[in-house]
Amino acid sequence: MEQTLSIIKPDAVAKGVIGKILDRFESNGLKIAAMKKVQLSRQDAEAFYAVHAARPFFNDLVDFMVSGPVVVTVLEGENAVLKNRDLMGATNPKEAAPGTIRADFAENIDANAVHGSDSLENARNEIAFFFSGREIS
Ligand code: ADP
Ligand code: MG
Repeated sequence: MEQTLSIIKPDAVAKGVIGKILDRFESNGLKIAAMKKVQLSRQDAEAFYAVHAARPFFNDLVDFMVSGPVVVTVLEGENAVLKNRDLMGATNPKEAAPGTIRADFAENIDANAVHGSDSLENARNEIAFFFSGREIS
């Protein structure tokens, strides 16, 4: 069993597709082990995406992530990290496979509907960033 962190980004929350995205997880063997809706501060978003601090798109990414509330979940299941990445589809929705979350709900590479941890180690760190142990079950 693995756990991974998912964020339903401001574009998808604003569009009213929280439920449709959660259904993709639950219908594909990923349980919701923890969940909350939060408005990230600039400091939160900068710290969460610190690995991308040197990238040219960093400021746009932070602006976007604080533009509205997000829904943060811990997903649990077999191969949860990779399974969630498969369900999400490619970072650029134009390249995302049909039937993936980004192909179905995302507009462009900035507003791309979801975040998902990309490794088990990053999943552990990202889960600890948002949740305490007692919030996960
Ligand atoms: P992913 O979210 O698929 O793991 P990355 O970790 O590489 O992708 O990037 C984090 C986020 O930064 C992406 O989801 C996307 O919103 C944004 N991003 C990545 N690459 C670009 C880019 N070339 N131009 C604009 N935004 C980007
Ligand atoms: Mg990433």
